[in-house]
Amino acid sequence: MNDDFEQLCAAAYSPKILNIILFPTEQCNFRCKYCYEDFRIGRMESDVVGGIKKLLLNRISELSHLNISWFGGEPLLAQDIVFEILEYAKEIIGNRSIHFTSDMTTNGYLLSSDIFKRLIMAGVNNYQISLDGISETHDTLRTLHNGGGTFKQIWTNLIKMKTCHYEFSVILRIHISHLTIPVLSDLLSMVKAEFGGDHRFKIFLKEIHDWGGLNSGNIDTINEVQATIIKDQIIDNHKNVSNLQKHHICYASKANSYVIRANGRINKCTVALNQSTNDIGELLSNGQMKLDSEKAKKWLIGFERKDISILGCPQKEINSKYIVK
Ligand code: SF4
Repeated sequence: MNDDFEQLCAAAYSPKILNIILFPTEQCNFRCKYCYEDFRIGRMESDVVGGIKKLLLNRISELSHLNISWFGGEPLLAQDIVFEILEYAKEIIGNRSIHFTSDMTTNGYLLSSDIFKRLIMAGVNNYQISLDGISETHDTLRTLHNGGGTFKQIWTNLIKMKTCHYEFSVILRIHISHLTIPVLSDLLSMVKAEFGGDHRFKIFLKEIHDWGGLNSGNIDTINEVQATIIKDQIIDNHKNVSNLQKHHICYASKANSYVIRANGRINKCTVALNQSTNDIGELLSNGQMKLDSEKAKKWLIGFERKDISILGCPQKEINSKYIVK
């Protein structure tokens, strides 16, 4: 355990590793009933895109591993920015021996075959896509911005992904709430029938939280104890389809991981978007990150205390008002 921890710590602080989580837009085509985002910020500004390119250029010669994560809002609403930055990263990596990885958290609605293939070619091999039960419950919780269900389109896109021969991974994040609990078994049977046996599709069970925002107070949440019992039951009943991460270390805990918002502000956590503790600096147009070192240091508390639970979510420790309900 100690050796493992030392290795994790070394990787999390290494200047040879850079993990940037980019919000190419903070707009979304969905309006999920539990969403914490306020959609006040739009597309990433061109000087921020330029700043990200300069940051990559400034750092590239010292890196052994570069990861670019795509987040939002819905990142595929600004896919021109996604491809522009990915193409630039590939260009400056050139023949250097840098391990490049990229992943995307997307609602999956716009992930058509053509866009998926283009993303794979650009290096985006890992995806996280959420489902909230079968179509009836999912479509109640996750509607389009202008109304209308979303399950059918997401499921169709997932099936098309399966028919591709590429190596990639999709984490199907299945949400647990009072509304979804009665249909979780049905959904898992559907997943098993369609994706069981395909190693590229994995399941991550996660309870819904009230993370603030416009929906706060009206969100269907269950507490962590209930969630653990339900997860254990599901894992027991669906051993062959469940793949639950036991010890998750959040990127926010790592010294070499930064969130770059569409407006150029630098955060650590992708959830506490309106918390001042999370706003640790700004990306300048010359690619320099102007950081508040005191604020940035607070996010390293999990490694300082060697506490696996804080490493899993440093935000809960830093912002006690966000303690899970
Ligand atoms: S710090 Fe916690 S809330 Fe923020 S991204 Fe990590 S796990 Fe999620």
